[in-house]
Amino acid sequence: MTIMKYSELHTPLRTIMTPGPVEVDPRVLRAMSTPILGQFDPAFTHIMNEVMEMLRQLFQTNNRWAFPVDGTSRSGNEAVLCSIIEPGDCVLVPIFGRFGHLFVEICERYGADVHTMECSWGEVFEPEEVIAEIKKVSPKIVALVHGETSTGCMQPLKEIGQACRELDVLLVVDAVASIGGTDIKVDEWCIDAIIGGTQKCLSVPSGMAPITYNDRIEKILSERKKVERGIATAEDLRQVRKGIPIKSNYFDLSMLQDYWGPRRLNHHTEATSMLYALREGLRLVLEEGLEERFERHVFHEAALVAGLEAMGLTLFGNRKHKLTCVTCIEIPSGIDGESVRSMLLNQFGIEIASSFGPLQGKIWRIGTMGYSCRKENVLFVLGALEAVLLRHGFEVKRGEALQAALDVYMAEVKEPVKEE
Ligand SMILES: *Cc1c(COP(=O)(O)O)cnc(C)c1O
Repeated sequence: MTIMKYSELHTPLRTIMTPGPVEVDPRVLRAMSTPILGQFDPAFTHIMNEVMEMLRQLFQTNNRWAFPVDGTSRSGNEAVLCSIIEPGDCVLVPIFGRFGHLFVEICERYGADVHTMECSWGEVFEPEEVIAEIKKVSPKIVALVHGETSTGCMQPLKEIGQACRELDVLLVVDAVASIGGTDIKVDEWCIDAIIGGTQKCLSVPSGMAPITYNDRIEKILSERKKVERGIATAEDLRQVRKGIPIKSNYFDLSMLQDYWGPRRLNHHTEATSMLYALREGLRLVLEEGLEERFERHVFHEAALVAGLEAMGLTLFGNRKHKLTCVTCIEIPSGIDGESVRSMLLNQFGIEIASSFGPLQGKIWRIGTMGYSCRKENVLFVLGALEAVLLRHGFEVKRGEALQAALDVYMAEVKEPVKEE
């Protein structure tokens, strides 16, 4: 008999205030332990249909197609791009942080002729700048990030979307960090395809990428469809010669939609427990209400920002285009940012994030996303950060942070007292 070498899984209790993965609502964790169903069991396909319906509400769209791609958020970016990019297609990628570079990387791998434009990190593009570039390079696709987690900035999309529609250009948006945390009107803003994330403002574990796309995208898919022997319809055969088949099997949206749609053609095995999790996460969002949820994110952001500034810290990035769910802070000179982060983790069990590329070692990022975006977390991170900064010799304005945050919380409008 060998003695069990590994103990039962036990994770330390954490307060996660990063831009993802964030804390998951206990209701979602419970849903994940629901028994498995077969992928073609009517009870399960019913759940698939419900998730599609709820995703349409989340994305504020009437699109026929709205479903999760199984894989982390970037699998959604890759599925959309590999399904619409044919070698040599021109794609314009305006870059204002790390995730613009991810778009470039994916587009290049699928043979696109990629044009980029860049602005400094901490800023976003004026819509006119992007529109002028679209007119100059005439791309087939514009791939744009909405909420840039690496810089805490949010790109306005409405004018760019309308211009793309007028110029017959496809607009693909990475809203991984912002979906469920701030208003995104997919149809009204003329977004052709959009990718959301689960582990950020939806507060579902990482492992799925909810997407939606319209008939402009679907048209390309049907032209590129790989016709399988025996199941091709006359219509499939007519269309098959028009486009180059999609290079990926796993990410071929035409195959994914045949699995999610009424044909239920076998592709992958849907990630059962993750779908349960996403369903419960979406139920929580719709139960709270989209508007109410967006307002909650604004409210806690206000308390956090008030506290940080009262402490004597400086925020990073253009405030006019700040992403509500990510707050970037300049690391004060002479302070070791990584040492502060590890003391927060080791002494308080709180996780905050650093950043990437040009911002590495220059800023901290605090996320207020989904289930992590709540009063006790904001107050806890402010109190802990003050204590840790004092230990690091930074001249904090003692006691001010929590008072400023409390001012925001206690100014909360009270429900009118019910008259008997
Ligand atoms: C987190 C994030 C991603 C990548 O998500 P993964 O789940 O790690 O694949 C992509 N884009 C943005 C804007 C993000 O914030």
